[in-house]
Amino acid sequence: MGEADQGRVAVEGLVKHFGSVKAVDGVSLAAESGEFLALLGPSGSGKSTILMCIAGFETPDAGRITISDRDVTSVLPQRRNLGMVFQRYTLFPHMSVLDNIAFPLKMRGVGRAEREAQAREALATVRLADYGARMPAQLSGGQQQRVALARAIVYRPPVLLMDEPLSALDKALREEMQLEIKHLQRELGVTVVFVTHDQTEALTMADRIAVLDHGRLCQVGTPRELYEAPRDPFVARFIGETNMIDGRAAADAAVGSRVGIRLVGDTVVEATAMAPLTRDAAVVIAVRPERLVVSADSGGPVSGRVREAIYAGVATTYVLELATGATLRMRSATGANALDLPADGAVSLSWAAEDARAFAAEGA
Ligand code: ADP
Ligand code: MG
Repeated sequence: MGEADQGRVAVEGLVKHFGSVKAVDGVSLAAESGEFLALLGPSGSGKSTILMCIAGFETPDAGRITISDRDVTSVLPQRRNLGMVFQRYTLFPHMSVLDNIAFPLKMRGVGRAEREAQAREALATVRLADYGARMPAQLSGGQQQRVALARAIVYRPPVLLMDEPLSALDKALREEMQLEIKHLQRELGVTVVFVTHDQTEALTMADRIAVLDHGRLCQVGTPRELYEAPRDPFVARFIGETNMIDGRAAADAAVGSRVGIRLVGDTVVEATAMAPLTRDAAVVIAVRPERLVVSADSGGPVSGRVREAIYAGVATTYVLELATGATLRMRSATGANALDLPADGAVSLSWAAEDARAFAAEGA
């Protein structure tokens, strides 16, 4: 094993059924050594099942799991040398904070003095140095989750698995802990596989994000890649906000080429083909709200009306209704170039072809 592969986690062709439910449907994926990988998807998309297979608490029906290049598919969970943090605080209620953190070291046969020293160090790492003597019930939710984190890192595992560890915390604390965990991960150089259904959390924390839907891997990439170049409409909708506009291809088009799209009412607009398209095929165009170009007149080929203006400080979101009946959201950042559109005013819309991605319509 090369030093570089220490802490690399890979699943290959992972399949897991629960009765008739295919929870994981042939997923191949790797977290590189020292990488923060988020598994992101809606509830029931198979995120936790993948994590439980990596941890060894679920046995896959098919596929292979390697950790630091060692095949662990049939290795017991306690022999995989992983740290784990779950949504609910899993501290032992009858043990002090320090004893909770020292527990995994005790299980590994580390002597009393040594495990206390290491537990204190881990406690300091999560900024709770003075809390060792408390009982878990005497801590807030965020503090308990920090203790759970300290317990997971105390034996310096090369890999940390986390399943929605912040979802029980309120928003402000969650955002603070997101950055804290991210910094800690960098500091320790540990590989993290982090399950979340919250796209903002994934974008904030992860080096790369794996987007899952119905047990299948849709796309894996950096936050920027997923936002700028979603491979399918599901990813486009799930990462950030996207307008979806129905139309038909006006011509055959290869992936990456510019193509005219005929909208309802026969207006033809420009987009970039994200899949091979044949003339007249049903497509959906995805355009980000901040990439729509709007002017306060009705002269353009795509015209509509302002239905609502929602001022939110940093930006104003305009809800626009097109002549075709479709509703789009447009965002204008506050500042020197901010738009100021009157409610119910007429507008025309356009966009750069590279900002509009044409996908084959789902189910077409
Ligand atoms: P996620 O973590 O993305 O919300 P899960 O991996 O928990 O999704 O679940 C994926 C699918 O597998 C869901 O349909 C869920 O109901 C099902 N499932 C998960 N665990 C079990 C189980 N132990 N028994 C039966 N069905 C399960
Ligand atoms: Mg889950």
